[in-house]
Amino acid sequence: MLNRRKFLEKISAAGAVTLLPGIVKSMPVPAEAPDHDVAIPAVISTWSHGIPANEKAMEVMRGGGSVVDAVEQGVRIPEGDPDNRSVGLGGTPDRDGHVTLDASIMGSDGNAGAVCFLEHIIHPISVARLVMEKTPHVLLAGEGALQFALENGFEEHKLLTPETEKSWKEWVKESNYNPEVNWEDKPNEFHDTIGLLAMDENGDMAGACTTSGLGYKMRGRVGDSPIIGAGLFVDNEIGGATATGMGELVMKTLGSFLVVELMRQGRSPQQACKEAVERIVKKVPENKIRQVGFIAMNKKGETGAFCLQPGFNYALHQNDENKMIESKSYY
Ligand code: ASP
Repeated sequence: MLNRRKFLEKISAAGAVTLLPGIVKSMPVPAEAPDHDVAIPAVISTWSHGIPANEKAMEVMRGGGSVVDAVEQGVRIPEGDPDNRSVGLGGTPDRDGHVTLDASIMGSDGNAGAVCFLEHIIHPISVARLVMEKTPHVLLAGEGALQFALENGFEEHKLLTPETEKSWKEWVKESNYNPEVNWEDKPNEFHDTIGLLAMDENGDMAGACTTSGLGYKMRGRVGDSPIIGAGLFVDNEIGGATATGMGELVMKTLGSFLVVELMRQGRSPQQACKEAVERIVKKVPENKIRQVGFIAMNKKGETGAFCLQPGFNYALHQNDENKMIESKSYY
């Protein structure tokens, strides 16, 4: 593990300071200093399912795996957990009872891959990675994404578990088939994407984001998570960001890209996440009743988060500690 001084010495020795003067050398002191000693490798991810995901991602990096391997393997943990109601197997279905999954991944080379409206596949993040590595495209949707997955050896599974089926049937009885009833008074329920960002000990970053999307959404609805720049963005020269919550608000402001661009202009990860939330407050009227949370990490391994409503937390694995942190909120 490297502390900040050793890390800066290391990138300096590698020529990064002279090669990238505008990026590394002139990075200003963060507006709000992080409350931890900055060290790499580091992994940050959304919500409490981030704890086991971070653990796995760190294990992969320590075992010599690449940072892309780490983010993919990390988020596969909640994807494969049938008790996790917002990601992969056991994800909450749409209002017609179908589990439809969205995922995206970005590597340190700037490459990106994503799938959306994908059904019957437990690990959409691994399909997204194959889109990134084996096709000339960035995003495959629906039947085409499923066909691509099956051609590449993925197996079909029933993603609706007995528990999620039971909850859905109860919802159908009470909701009048109206997805909106869920979100207005319970902004922290019926969703919870895992977005995960990792930095290896060379200072290279990758990110992954995967979700079953908003519970009881309209059939065909796709959220922010598979949209590069909305649910996830990584620029290995600057840092990365990822989002959770009501995807529509994130898509209307291209939130993760905005966070990274604000870091490029010198904001700390914390300040950049806060400003992206403030942009939503300014531009999207639904901000008062809905949740959005951002997490971010910059090229120094500093991290930050901010959300609209109280109740968003995230997992940070850094300095040999993997812990939950409560995000500050706008409201
Ligand atoms: N952002 C996701 C979406 O809108 C929801 C979530 O975070 O769970 O699909």
